[in-house]
Amino acid sequence: MKNQLLALTCTITLGCISNAHAQTSVENQSFTMTLIKEDVYQFQMSQYSSLVVVTDRGVIVVDPNGEERAKVLRSEIAKITSKPVKYVVYSHAHFDHSRGGQIFKREGAKFVTNRRCTELLNRDIENKVVPADIVYDQKYHLKLGNKQIDLHYYGSNDDQCMSIVHMPKDKLLFAVDWHLQGYVNEPYRLNQHDYVGTLNTLRRVKKELTFDAVVSSHMPKSSPAQLDEDLAFNEALFNAVSKGLQEGRSVDELAKTIRLPQFSHWMGYEKNLPAHIARMAYSIWHGH
Ligand SMILES: [Zn+2]
Repeated sequence: MKNQLLALTCTITLGCISNAHAQTSVENQSFTMTLIKEDVYQFQMSQYSSLVVVTDRGVIVVDPNGEERAKVLRSEIAKITSKPVKYVVYSHAHFDHSRGGQIFKREGAKFVTNRRCTELLNRDIENKVVPADIVYDQKYHLKLGNKQIDLHYYGSNDDQCMSIVHMPKDKLLFAVDWHLQGYVNEPYRLNQHDYVGTLNTLRRVKKELTFDAVVSSHMPKSSPAQLDEDLAFNEALFNAVSKGLQEGRSVDELAKTIRLPQFSHWMGYEKNLPAHIARMAYSIWHGH
């Protein structure tokens, strides 16, 4: 199985990066650089994933994920190739994913994102986000060497300007924030979560894109089967909440009574499901 070919785990205190003066806040944090497809890696460090695509013309990084992770990522890329990072893709505008790109800008990388992200990225009052050089509206083909990444805009979901990141030739999907399989997410993460939009994204991805490998932005591993399970959760939640609203029941009542026992094994199910029921109800009412 190609997606299990290589997994390297290092920790900073074990000296797997050369910078002996790594900031204390990242000490002891492990990271992995896992080969998912030929020359395509998932870099994961403290719950965040970047996608790394290596070609004979240079490297593409999707999501720097903050200055500390980007610094470790850059030194790990240097162990794989001496080629420069030519492109950085922002999957979306959230600053925890989009900050930290300066290290790649200094070597000449161009930054790519959906046009709707540019204003949101510019809102960073700490000015830690490198502005985008290339923007697109609905679909963008990013080609470098023998590799191709397609960026699709499928509407709002967990952000208003999310790119669906798909590698058609490698049959790989990078799902950022709109796919957290096996986890009924913490309620504070739902403030801006467009639940109906997320369901629509999952449906379109399933219907329109071909892939046999899935990388999640916050989970160590995913798969097409886990994406299917995530879609099933979103469908079941939508169906139960929609039915309850049509029967005239209140959001409070729905939050207390709806159960989805087929997902009771998901992390956070007992504690967090009521908040997801409420967010889905408002998303049905408000359209986002
Ligand atoms: Zn995220």
